[in-house]
Amino acid sequence: MQREAGLNAKGYSERDEKRILDALGRGLLKEFPNPDRAGCPGSDVLNRIASHEMPLAEAEKWLDHLTSCSPCYSDFSQFQSAYQRRRTRTILAIAAGILIVASLAGWAFLGKHKESFVTTAVLDLRNRSIPRGTEPNPTEPPLEINHAATHWNIYLPLGSSEGQYDIRIVTPSGELLFAADGTAKLADEITSLQISVSFSSPRSGRYVLQISKTGSEWNSYPLLLR
Ligand SMILES: [Zn+2]
Repeated sequence: MQREAGLNAKGYSERDEKRILDALGRGLLKEFPNPDRAGCPGSDVLNRIASHEMPLAEAEKWLDHLTSCSPCYSDFSQFQSAYQRRRTRTILAIAAGILIVASLAGWAFLGKHKESFVTTAVLDLRNRSIPRGTEPNPTEPPLEINHAATHWNIYLPLGSSEGQYDIRIVTPSGELLFAADGTAKLADEITSLQISVSFSSPRSGRYVLQISKTGSEWNSYPLLLR
């Protein structure tokens, strides 16, 4: 891109380019053999003109010679083809770079999108019985939840009252994994409670979800972190 800007700064427009080529084409067609290369600018100059490395103002003074010297036209043509090949390679490389960046951006976008799917989870206890105590009813199927979910929306059993609740997640042997509290609100006949969950190290497995209205006894549910 900088190279591109540099070329423009040196004053080669597409029209200038065409003018030079037309002039040189005429030069070749008119056949100006110059076996001694009298007055020739040298291959470095030709190369710099062909590669747009020489400012047009500086190249201008050679145009008369180039329109009347077949060997110079021949050299120039070769330098120009080489320059075009390099340029094509550069453009292809830039295009490939853009593709890579675009697919990386796509992956990043999908990644974020995917994350937003799993960060919120609903635990529906509405039709669950209210098992008293810190041990879950062994016949109850476990509540299943993605271990990556960081925002839990808990629908409390029907008839639960609004107010402050304590939440705990413990291992089957009673080791505390996580504790939080939150305020349950009633809306559309659902008493729900939202908590942010973060485990020090998210582990899949079987746990016990314990819920208590603050100051009341615990109710326990089997929980499966997937
Ligand atoms: Zn010449």
